[in-house]
Amino acid sequence: MKKRMIFVGPPGAGKGSQAKILSEALNIPHISTGDMFRMHLKNQTPLGLLAKSYTDQGLLVPDSVTNDMVKERLNQDDVKNGFILDGYPRNPNQAEYLDQLLGSLEWQIDVVLNVTSEDDIIIKRITGRRTCPVCGAIYHIDNHPPKVEGICDNDGSPLVQRKDDTEETVKRRLSVYNEETFPLIAYYQNKGLLIDVDGNRELSSITKDILEILGA
Ligand code: ADP
Repeated sequence: MKKRMIFVGPPGAGKGSQAKILSEALNIPHISTGDMFRMHLKNQTPLGLLAKSYTDQGLLVPDSVTNDMVKERLNQDDVKNGFILDGYPRNPNQAEYLDQLLGSLEWQIDVVLNVTSEDDIIIKRITGRRTCPVCGAIYHIDNHPPKVEGICDNDGSPLVQRKDDTEETVKRRLSVYNEETFPLIAYYQNKGLLIDVDGNRELSSITKDILEILGA
């Protein structure tokens, strides 16, 4: 079974939602650089405050910072049986860094899942997205509302909107994706690792396809 994977694809295509579901189903860690930056910010660490100056604008955090953070994470014990990288790598420089890092650990990526969607759908999805600051659950005001408006089903916490989920910032994130991240599609295609997954469907049918691709 394929257990070392990368999710690429535009923001809001549903990478994070799928990665969370798979992480639980397969019992392997979900490594989201976006979540890691948000966790640092919540804890008010210097890294979190630095990252915020980029994430709030929809820009990429500098590679040196992101690469070091991922290196530390991939050196932890729980990634030995597999991992789900979500939102990393995000440009060719990070992809080359990751190749070297994995080489030094004598690991290889098994598959790169490209979750696809279109800009107008993405903008609707992201601006309607709400998350639970406590458990990380993701909702959408129309497509996947909580049982009680504004309240997390799991733990009753008030839901929040990410600061970078406003329409203006989403447009910036999409253009950053097109310019910096999109070249990774060809990069992993050339390595024979890329598989497209149509993200414009119900969460459960996307998960079903991915589990098949992984051979789970
Ligand atoms: P999304 O995929 O929905 O845009 P993420 O939660 O993955 O959201 O990322 C949020 C923000 O965190 C990005 O817009 C960027 O500023 C920063 N970020 C996340 N991953 C990386 C990365 N690999 N390199 C640089 N910046 C990153």
